[in-house]
Amino acid sequence: MENTGGILYIVSTPIGNLEDISLRALRILKEVGLIAAEDTRHSKKLLNHYEINTKIVSYHQHNERDRTEELIKVLKNGESVALISDAGTPGISDPGHEIVKRCIEEGIDVTGVPGPCAAIDALVISGLDTSKFTFYGFLSKDKKERKRQIEEMGTQRSTVILYESPHRIEKTLALIKEILGDINIAMVKELTKIHEKVWSGNISRAIIYFAEEKPRGEYVLLLEVKDAFEQKEFWAGMTLDMHMDYYLVQGTSKKDAVKLVAKDRGLPKREVYEYFMK
Ligand code: SAM
Repeated sequence: MENTGGILYIVSTPIGNLEDISLRALRILKEVGLIAAEDTRHSKKLLNHYEINTKIVSYHQHNERDRTEELIKVLKNGESVALISDAGTPGISDPGHEIVKRCIEEGIDVTGVPGPCAAIDALVISGLDTSKFTFYGFLSKDKKERKRQIEEMGTQRSTVILYESPHRIEKTLALIKEILGDINIAMVKELTKIHEKVWSGNISRAIIYFAEEKPRGEYVLLLEVKDAFEQKEFWAGMTLDMHMDYYLVQGTSKKDAVKLVAKDRGLPKREVYEYFMK
């Protein structure tokens, strides 16, 4: 039997420049019975700009559960709904996943109206490898979990993409450097806006850069973690003696070299110490 219910449209909207909206998105936003928006006041600016007068309701992380069920009823009654977020693609570090999942469960048609997404726009202009990438969105607010996430990033063999607020970016960079070393990164800010900028270099340089110019605006952080992976495993083909010499020739004391070798290999310090004292 043909599906006579409404369709849920996941509509991407601009991430700064109001011109970045597709003709199809404008048509769908005019034609649907209802627009569900993360912040109705914010989205009204876009809708007014394009003279779209469709009825609008809020759909944000605090009412996502209840609103999803209300919207499912609307869709089942045959009315189509467009979901938009404040910027970019719904479902990408924004509400969206919950309702899509429920629509699939209920046999309701879902379709995307693609457009801007800060992660993808940043990746393609960052100069970093675009062939493989891993998206982490915003890092966890929990300190322990944040550390675990960064450690996990170090095992990826692809460009890592993160969203970060200007208030936290310096602390995040310092933590990444502590865990993954002084890797190459790109910071892309204010995409599609007047102050759009791509900065690339290693984390030490980024920290110096921010000491002179405080972070302002919206940022996407991209990490070349392949380096970290290789750095982490640099000792893989070395014997214990070669590994020890690696540090000693750099002027590291014997005591510290033992500690570093043990840390790299995840061995008890005493075991490494005893090996070299035998
Ligand atoms: N759904 C959005 C998307 O598709 O990109 C992301 C929404 S998330 C709540 C907001 C974060 O995305 C910002 O904190 C920033 O990290 C990134 N972002 C959004 N717009 C941006 C822009 N114009 N320039 C740089 N980063 C942006």
